[in-house]
Amino acid sequence: LVSKVKSCAINGISAHSVIVEAHTSNGLPNFSIIGLPDASLRESKDRVKTSIQNSLLNWPRHKVTINLSPANVKKHGAFFDLAIAIAILIDSEDLLSNDLERVGILGELMLNGKVMGSKGVLIAVEELQKNGCEVILVPHEYYFEASLVPDCKVIPVRSLLDAWNYIRHGQVPETPNKISAQENSGKTEQKSSNLDFVIGQAQAKLGITIAAGGRHNLLMLGEPGVGKSLLASCIPSLLKKLDRKKAVESSKVLSLISKEPLEELNRVPPFRSPHHSISLQGLLGGGSRKITPGEVTFAHNGILFLDELGEFSPKALDSLRQILESKRVTIIRQIGAFEFPANFMLIGCSNPCPCGYGNRKCICSDSVRNKYLQKISGPFFDRCDLVLHLEKPNEEERGLTYEEAKEMIETASKRQEVRYKKYSFNWNSSIPINLEDALIKIPESSKEMLSATIKDHDSSFSMRGISRIKKVSRTIADLYDRDSIQDEDVALAMSLRNF
Ligand SMILES: [Zn+2]
Repeated sequence: LVSKVKSCAINGISAHSVIVEAHTSNGLPNFSIIGLPDASLRESKDRVKTSIQNSLLNWPRHKVTINLSPANVKKHGAFFDLAIAIAILIDSEDLLSNDLERVGILGELMLNGKVMGSKGVLIAVEELQKNGCEVILVPHEYYFEASLVPDCKVIPVRSLLDAWNYIRHGQVPETPNKISAQENSGKTEQKSSNLDFVIGQAQAKLGITIAAGGRHNLLMLGEPGVGKSLLASCIPSLLKKLDRKKAVESSKVLSLISKEPLEELNRVPPFRSPHHSISLQGLLGGGSRKITPGEVTFAHNGILFLDELGEFSPKALDSLRQILESKRVTIIRQIGAFEFPANFMLIGCSNPCPCGYGNRKCICSDSVRNKYLQKISGPFFDRCDLVLHLEKPNEEERGLTYEEAKEMIETASKRQEVRYKKYSFNWNSSIPINLEDALIKIPESSKEMLSATIKDHDSSFSMRGISRIKKVSRTIADLYDRDSIQDEDVALAMSLRNF
């Protein structure tokens, strides 16, 4: 007879449920695992055997064969230990029942029989539930993370013995204490800056409010010290909280990188700001044996902030350009192709030239300056809806307050939510080209203004540039809670896209 339970393999951010079968047969005592195990899985043989013995449970005096299927799924990590141990115990006690096939088991074993967690529990639990598991055993400290999956019975276990007592006798171990969990979550909450901390910069404050309102990519140019980074760091606090579906998506990605188990759904849009020295793999994702997502995926549903854009490698910038179009990243390796979501709002900052002294004391020649701007503008100008030029702050200017900006963005978000209900996109910035005319109606007078501009600047105002101006105009009207776009909206959108 063969006993079966389910566990889960994680590759990138996708999970595959894996059936763990144990079979004991007459023959010399021997323990083998089949089904394409990688090196870490071979080590699990020792952990499983020792922890069964150290838990004073019976290790079979027969030949034990474990099969992990399907064979073509690459199996990484140590999620399988506990499932393997339980499958062996079920088989040697003849405790076979069809119900056990609806039990999912996740956890790594220590030699003393304690159960440890590893990253990605949320993803694994969701996959197991989809595959018909009604009860899922998870490491004790991952109880809250696993419970984020709705309508799922989660059993937290501290040890192999806890797990076995549940399977054998139906004893439910105690659940962890929520009070300690809440204390932890307060600690990790990230504090972002507030628009009210920024002195002057009225035009820039309006610019980032528009960017955040329609999730437009934004380029900020200005000499050092004008407050580009401070302005960018104000954006997360302005964004609308994620809805449940998006929060689950983002929390799944977070569960792969977070050192601590998650305790609640992450409703705050992520804000990632990798340094320009980051490797291509760190930025885009990759790896050879184990494929992991990169910053562009961690920024999914949120913001990717690239300071000193011109210092990033040309290869990184070129890859980003493609990701901004496709909103996903594909990594192809011998073991298969992995696709990660990467739908983020890009905020790029740059000095106007490489010397960094700014306009007044700049020591760069014209050709150096142009080359530098070309490096950023080449890949990004066509993909950034807004280009802001920042000057030294003028203390006289007031500009939008945090409350005002937040309220405008809230209004614009609601209008877009209603308008795009039946579409696959959520924001003005992602209106596909074939729906542009139907969804964005600009006044005839503005059309004339736009076509005159094309004639004047035929090189720098491409058709794509026009389409971006139309989308930004739509956002401006939404921010002021207007159905129709007015000439002044189009004029403002044009003024915010000068290079
Ligand atoms: Zn310079």
